[in-house]
Amino acid sequence: MKISSMFSPGKTVFSFEVFPPKKTSPVETIYETLDALHTLNPDFISVTYGAGGNAADSSTCDIASIIKHKYHIEPLAHLTCINSSREDVDINLQRLADNDIENILALRGDINPDLPPKQDFAHASDLISYIKAKTGDRFHLSGACYPEGHQDSPSLVDDVLALRKKVDAGANHLISQLFFDNSYFYSFVERARIAGITVPIEAGIMPVTNRKQIEKMVVMCGASLPPKFTKIMQKYEHRPEALRDAGIAYAIDQIVDLLSHGVDGIHLYTMNNPYIARRITESISSLLQTGA
Ligand code: FAD
Repeated sequence: MKISSMFSPGKTVFSFEVFPPKKTSPVETIYETLDALHTLNPDFISVTYGAGGNAADSSTCDIASIIKHKYHIEPLAHLTCINSSREDVDINLQRLADNDIENILALRGDINPDLPPKQDFAHASDLISYIKAKTGDRFHLSGACYPEGHQDSPSLVDDVLALRKKVDAGANHLISQLFFDNSYFYSFVERARIAGITVPIEAGIMPVTNRKQIEKMVVMCGASLPPKFTKIMQKYEHRPEALRDAGIAYAIDQIVDLLSHGVDGIHLYTMNNPYIARRITESISSLLQTGA
């Protein structure tokens, strides 16, 4: 099933993100995670892809295939392009098609200063155009978006104009970078709609439940930390259980506000932690029901 067909008036799509286990962890760890996550009935589960673009690594497709064929949940396979050649992308597209995967989140990937980009794709929009030209409507294509602007963008206006190019190239669904202040998301959606972007935009929510995660997230994506969030994190930073519960409560609070504003969808960055995903899902499931 293509993800674009999941969106309809009055329904809020609810989805999860997982990542393939590190090479040092046993692959079975992801099976345990999926075993627990699938019982929460998300509309789809996305699986990240390494920015290194190693076409020999089939872990994203393998996990997406398990999600589809074992758990009967629609997968969304991430695919980056900055360190990939057309041949690398072709290998991945063939592998996804062979596994009946219908949904791809087409991404540029972060530029690694130690790994010179390959020349075939400069932006996610180039990857989207390439997949469209090569495979027509075989795949539903999603793209990433940035409520506070992408770090490489000179301005919010440039960023939204670049996003419009991505949608014009064929992205028919967007998932946002994480944010901790919903007002950034609402302003972004307004900018996107003014720019003529009409596709559904899912809000990416990351429950922050430990200290290391906060530092990593801020460095990686530059999300602003509102005073309410910082205060909570400072108060509980030395009490792991309290910090976890406060992080879960904060994410639920964000989601309730987003739902009451009629958001198209919520994409939960689960960090492969089913316990946290369960607590959040159970708290909001009645709000997700159509007509509620
Ligand atoms: P692009 O859309 O190419 O944008 C990158 C920059 O170029 C932006 O500043 C944009 O404004 C500008 N730009 C875009 N198109 C044009 C154009 N046509 N002309 C001029 N300028 C343009 N990374 C991974 O490595 N693996 C993952 O699995 C992964 N999953 C992600 C999932 C989500 C939901 C999000 C939000 C991010 C994810 N990332 C992942 C991170 C992502 O790869 C980085 O944020 C990366 O730096 C940008 O990727 P992009 O696809 O948004 O790039």
